[in-house]
This record gives sequence, C-alpha cells and structure tokens, in this order.
Amino acid sequence: MEDPRISPVKPRLGREIILFLLPLQGHVTPMLQLANILYSRGFSITIVHTHFNSPKSSNYPHFNFQPIPDGLLEGQASTVDFVALLVLMNVTCVVPFRDCLSKLLSDASKDRIPCCLITDPVWHFTQAVADELNFPRMVLRTSSISSFLAFCALPLMQEKGYLPIQDSRLEEAVPELPPLKVKDLHVINSKDPEDVLRLIIAMAETMWASSGLIFNSFEELEPTKLAECRRGFPVPIFTVGPIHKLSAASSGSLFPQDRSCISWLDKQERPKSVLYVSFGSLSIVSEAQFLEIAWGLANSGQHFLWVVRPGSVRGSEWLEVLPSGFLEGLDGRGYIVKWAPQHGVLAHPAVGGFLTHNGWNSTLEAICEGVPMMCMPFHGDQRVNARYVNNEWRVGLHLEYKVERKEIEDAIRKLMASDEGEEMREKIKALKRKADESLQDGGSSCQSLQKLTEYLVSF
Ligand code: UDP
Repeated sequence: MEDPRISPVKPRLGREIILFLLPLQGHVTPMLQLANILYSRGFSITIVHTHFNSPKSSNYPHFNFQPIPDGLLEGQASTVDFVALLVLMNVTCVVPFRDCLSKLLSDASKDRIPCCLITDPVWHFTQAVADELNFPRMVLRTSSISSFLAFCALPLMQEKGYLPIQDSRLEEAVPELPPLKVKDLHVINSKDPEDVLRLIIAMAETMWASSGLIFNSFEELEPTKLAECRRGFPVPIFTVGPIHKLSAASSGSLFPQDRSCISWLDKQERPKSVLYVSFGSLSIVSEAQFLEIAWGLANSGQHFLWVVRPGSVRGSEWLEVLPSGFLEGLDGRGYIVKWAPQHGVLAHPAVGGFLTHNGWNSTLEAICEGVPMMCMPFHGDQRVNARYVNNEWRVGLHLEYKVERKEIEDAIRKLMASDEGEEMREKIKALKRKADESLQDGGSSCQSLQKLTEYLVSF
C-alpha cells in the first residue's frame, strides 16, 4: 500500500524523471528523498541502480526500479577504499547504463515522457552518455555547498603548495577558503592519491556541462558560498534542502535498523541527557581509536547511545576489542547497536548531543532536530562540515582530530553539562528555526523547489 504522505498532491504529469543512485548510503538516502519529493509534485519516477548496494525497492512501490549490472568482480565490491571503487564503477557501468537509458528513452509513450536524468556528480561518465542520447542531465550534490567548493579548489590547493599537507603547516589558515585551516583540507585516503584529484576534476567539468545543480542545503545556511557557486558555475542552481524534512518517511537505509534503541531512549528519565554517537556508513577506526572513544564515553559519566557498525573497527567483526566487563561496568548508562533509525534518535527528547563524523546528512539532520554536535571528522567533506559547525555556525565543539580518551571525556561533559553546551543548544535551535522557515510557503527552499519543478517540466 502507498504511504499516504507520498500520495501525489498533483495529478501525474505524464513526465518522468530518471534518477541514477550512487551506491553509498550518504548518497542513496538524499537521492531517494528527492525522488519522493518530485513524485509528490506529479512526476513519475524511475530509479536506475547497480546490483551493489541496491536499495530496498519494496519501500518504494510507487517507483519503477531498473537494476543494471555493475561489472564488479568478486572482492571489488567493497567500500573500504571507496574512491578506488567509484573510479572503477565509472568505467564498468558505462555500457550497462547507456543501454538502460537508451531503452528507457526509446520505450517512451505519451503517458511516460522522460524529461530529465538526475545523477550524483560522482557518476561523471553519465554526462557523456546523456549528451550522446541528447537528453538533459542534472546533478544532485549531496554535500554542503561550502565543502563542494573546497573540493573543487583542491587542484588550486595543490598548486599553492598546501597539498600534500605538511605537519608543520596544519594550524595555518587557508586564506582562499576561510574559515578552513590546512588540516581541514579534503584528504581522502586511496591506494592512488592521484585518483582523488582525477575524480574531482572529472566531476567539476561534467557539472559545468550539466543542465543544472541541486544542493541539499538552504540559502540562509550558506549564503556567501551559494553566491560564489552561482558565480562559478554557469548553470541553474537550486537549493532545496533539508531534503529529508520534505520527503516521506520511506526508509532508504541500506542496513537493518535496530529499533530497540528507541525503547531504551524512552526509558531515560531526564530530557537531553543522552549523547548519540555515530560515525556514518563508511568511517573505519583503528582498534586503538575505538578504545579511546569507548573509555572517553565511559569516563564521562554521561548516558550514551553508540552505533558501532560491524566492520567499522579495523581487524574486528564488531565489539570483540572491548575489554571484558566494559559493558557491565557501565551500569546501564550505555547502549550499543549496529545501526540505528537515526532520524528518530535525533528527534527523541532524551537526546541532548551528537558525537558525529559530520557527514553532510548527519550534520543537517542534527541541525533540523536542534541537537548540538561534538565533531570528530575523518576524511573528505566531513572536515569542512566540522569546521563550519564549530567556527561559522558555532553549534558544536571540535575535537581537532584528537582521538584521545581525556579529550573526549572533557568535551562530552562540556557539551552535555556546561553553559557553553547550553549556548550551542540555543544557537542550533535558532538554526533549526531557519531551516524550518526555508521549507515553509515563501521560504527559500520552498521557492527553489517550485523553480526546479518548473524547470524540469520545461525540458
Ligand atoms: N544513519 C542511520 N543510522 C545509523 C547511522 C547513520 O540511519 O546508525 C544514516 C544517517 O541518518 C544519514 C546517513 O546514514 O542519513 C549517513 O550519511 P552521512 O552523510 O551522515 O555520512 P556517510 O555515511 O556518507 O559518511
């Protein structure tokens, strides 16, 4: 049965949008949410996806799903080196994707008129395919605008000598990208560092050639960066975020969610007393870092709900590294799950802080629920997001890349039980209000979404 929240508010337009999922959680979720929003605006939706990390189509009975082979050999389908995986898939998916898109276009009828392809910019090869088939392609960039621009500036950062990063320059400000410091520049470890730069250049070039950019952000959050982006990219730009607040609740989760943590939160006596801890779908920590985090949490004396994804501790399956008696010693103050229903957790009244890796979805979700953050970014755009959370929006503490138990313990106490933490809570509530307003009638994201709808119909 269809979820009543996603029943179309408009009659079908006969027009179809084709969306191609990038098979990583942080990219799948906002793309499916955008698809839901466009469906509610009267478009038919076709989702093209790879076999690797394929979405649960039964959660979206109103969409047409088109799986394509991804050409990955055994052992290649791993996100441990996700840059290498994405570089490879930009090659192996070309033919299956072209075949799929050209069939969708040739099967068009008066009830199903494909009008635009929307892809993640990481799928840079799709621009050439769209050009060849004379079909418009738009891009949904699932990061913040600020981190996207910092990403595009990497070749310049290399030219100026900031990269590769030298230990002696870590604390230096980067005047070209305020408020970033050298240590915040995008670093993504991959077996071939040149792959990262090549991928970025290909993404940026094909975004220039696209028919438009869509961001999961809102104008009031990043006004100067949005203006800068408009100056830099000669295509229409739409900011329609926070997307998850507009989309129906269908789950795009690639992992099974353990809802028992919601019951555990229900049992907490004091509001805002629990620290939620999660590092997203890709981060991997060493055993030593994992133990520092564990002891920091335990020694803080605060209650916590911790997501430990299986495989996220290098060399371990799950929790084997924890010393025996660790969990019992917490005396009910801590609860650990493999994957949580994060929206529900952040919205829960018992949750008062978020120790996060600052993936963009997690950062936006925290803003939307007014939960202040403790930033422990690992790589890529997370470092930029964390710096903005801490220096620009002032709604979180930054651990400054120190994964040490004492630092973690002190920061938790500061966030959960000090005046400074309370100030951040007030600031993030104000930011939440701005996010809410942007989505209301006449708000910036609401207007941008209206313009996007008109633009899509115009193709
Ligand atoms: N998430 C979730 N349950 C968890 C941890 C994460 O549902 O236990 C979701 C979270 O709500 C977010 C996404 O996974 O939408 C992670 O995306 P993000 O951009 O924050 O980080 P990434 O996984 O891409 O590093």
